[in-house]
Amino acid sequence: MGRDSIESLGAVIRQGNGSADLARIPTVDAPLGVLADTTPSSRSVGLYIHVPFCTKRCFYCSFNTAPLEHDDEMRRYVGALRRELGLLATTSWAAAVSLETVFFGGGTPSLLGPDDMAGILDELRARLALSPAAEITVECNPESVSRDKLAAYRQAGVNRISLGVQSLDDSILPVLGRLHDAGGARRAFEAVREAGFDNASVDLMYGLPHQAADTWTRSVSGVLAWEPEHLSAYGLTLDAGSLWAVTGVEGLPGEGAVVEQYWALARAAQARGFEHYEISNYARPGFRSRHNQIYWHAAEYLACGPGACGFVGDVRYGNVKPVTRYCATLESGALPIDTAERLTERQRVGERLILGLRLVDGVPRAWLDERAAGDTGLARRLAAWREAGVLAEHDDRVALTESGFLVSDSVFVDLL
Ligand code: SF4
Repeated sequence: MGRDSIESLGAVIRQGNGSADLARIPTVDAPLGVLADTTPSSRSVGLYIHVPFCTKRCFYCSFNTAPLEHDDEMRRYVGALRRELGLLATTSWAAAVSLETVFFGGGTPSLLGPDDMAGILDELRARLALSPAAEITVECNPESVSRDKLAAYRQAGVNRISLGVQSLDDSILPVLGRLHDAGGARRAFEAVREAGFDNASVDLMYGLPHQAADTWTRSVSGVLAWEPEHLSAYGLTLDAGSLWAVTGVEGLPGEGAVVEQYWALARAAQARGFEHYEISNYARPGFRSRHNQIYWHAAEYLACGPGACGFVGDVRYGNVKPVTRYCATLESGALPIDTAERLTERQRVGERLILGLRLVDGVPRAWLDERAAGDTGLARRLAAWREAGVLAEHDDRVALTESGFLVSDSVFVDLL
């Protein structure tokens, strides 16, 4: 659903790093797998929970999700997820760490009924140390929420909603395979407020087929008029695993038009008091996503659910993707960890750099100097990025400028 799920972030990092450099850890045939052999270096971590079901697959989607066909599938998944939380709690380090954020991503987490949501969060509190001030976010699709369901989520402890709107153009939404229309999205946002949430984010997409400049600015101004606390906006990419990556899609705007859409959003959001704090994210003061900042600070997070990826100590790991295998593994009493890799020091420094540069705060200048030491080619390229106004320095920190955000991928390739 949102591009900030661990799943997609892990893929970006892996792609950038080149997996050949990573030290793969042999599969450990024990209930806790690699998590028995690694310890978090921080006392506070995040938790990502992947819900692998949607009502229908959107045409651009490449996430680990499938249509939910029977209630039994959800029941089995929720049972397996609760077992996974229980197993995580048996690690030698679990009692020493507190969860500062929980993020239900997907898929469509709002397909979880209120009782399942309450059951999962109760299990979590019973098994792990959930900070009383934890940010607990649920990604929701407009057609799968109601005021009553959202009120029940809030009652269960959820305190932040991320609503997948993508567009307010009724001619574009069905082209994407979305199940809601603009009116449904607006009513869903109203339901979020009526349920009492005072921390709500909206997802938008630009660079969409047949999306003209004026239809995009209407979507942006329409969503900004709802006064959300946070806004995420991603340019469409045809990622492997999506239907459109196979079939292609007609009517995509050219690069110049996409760049203009980026600037139209950046200007409109700024005029409404939003801080453009990350390449694709905007927030009112005090409402940056705490969970996503864990990723961008290269900090640690646990992961539950099919295909979810976590990062603990110096180990990044990923769960098995197929839902039935995920459930069967947990039913047999083992964590469903499928892949694990121990990051080298160079990889960790590289990740800290590129993830940190995604944020408007940037990174300490010393990190870049260290990276470029002895590499005259890199030093020259960094100087060129500064000269071109892509990188800027403030108070011993280096950050991408707002126009630099647009070419961030090229900078990251240089740094890796
Ligand atoms: S709602 Fe659409 S974009 Fe989101 S995870 Fe489901 S299929 Fe993918």
